[in-house]
Amino acid sequence: MKSNINALKPFQIVLGYIFLSYYVCLLKRRFTMRHLLTVVTTNVMQLHRLLCEKYFQRKIKCPNSEDGCCLYIKMSELEKHEKECPYKEMACPLAAVYGQCQWRGKLPQISKHFNELHPIHCQGDVDTEMCLRNTESQIVYYVMLGTFNFLFHVKVSEYDRKIYMTVQLIGTNISAQKWSYEIHIYNKDQPRRKYQYTDICHSNNTPLMDIFADEKCATLPFAFVDTFVNRDILNYKFYIKKNIESKPSNRQGVRRRN
Ligand SMILES: [Zn+2]
Ligand SMILES: [Zn+2]
Repeated sequence: MKSNINALKPFQIVLGYIFLSYYVCLLKRRFTMRHLLTVVTTNVMQLHRLLCEKYFQRKIKCPNSEDGCCLYIKMSELEKHEKECPYKEMACPLAAVYGQCQWRGKLPQISKHFNELHPIHCQGDVDTEMCLRNTESQIVYYVMLGTFNFLFHVKVSEYDRKIYMTVQLIGTNISAQKWSYEIHIYNKDQPRRKYQYTDICHSNNTPLMDIFADEKCATLPFAFVDTFVNRDILNYKFYIKKNIESKPSNRQGVRRRN
């Protein structure tokens, strides 16, 4: 009801202006249909512009609100949000990596899907000692922290002779910037030496191949990795943390080698 009243305001203003113009025309005895038509056309266009502005500034509930998205979106930004809304229907995140799973569903169902169909991809966890064997080339672990869903990725590229590691939040870019990840790589026989990398999480809307190609992630040349390998195994841990200050920042990983 309130929006109807607001929408009427510009309409009333323009009508009032037309009436006033008509009255002034009569007083000055310059009334012609042509003059009135010009006034009406101008004001109808103005009214159209005002209504459009009003329409695109209007905020509505996300179309995926019933699935959990609680954002109110301006009409002008709706199309953009619908593309990246984490509650829209999505393909299984593993499909883009391994190309096998045909599942499509929504965010609240993803945990069940991973647990039932991809239990091997649920074996990774934060602050847990992980092992990378030299037979593995691509690893994806699904990690749930509270109500947030993350994907931890490792890619061993024989072509680049590098190992890439990163974390994606299944969510928007803005939400992802509120989270950071840390990767620790160590050799158990050298307790005083460690590789440590900290960065802002990516959104799953950012293609993994772009993250690796641009090296916006932990990137380790094989020669460096070899110095941490112990009995053919590379030990590492990863951590995912909510940023204390949630200001958007320039993506720039912090790398420390001890
Ligand atoms: Zn949404
Ligand atoms: Zn799947």
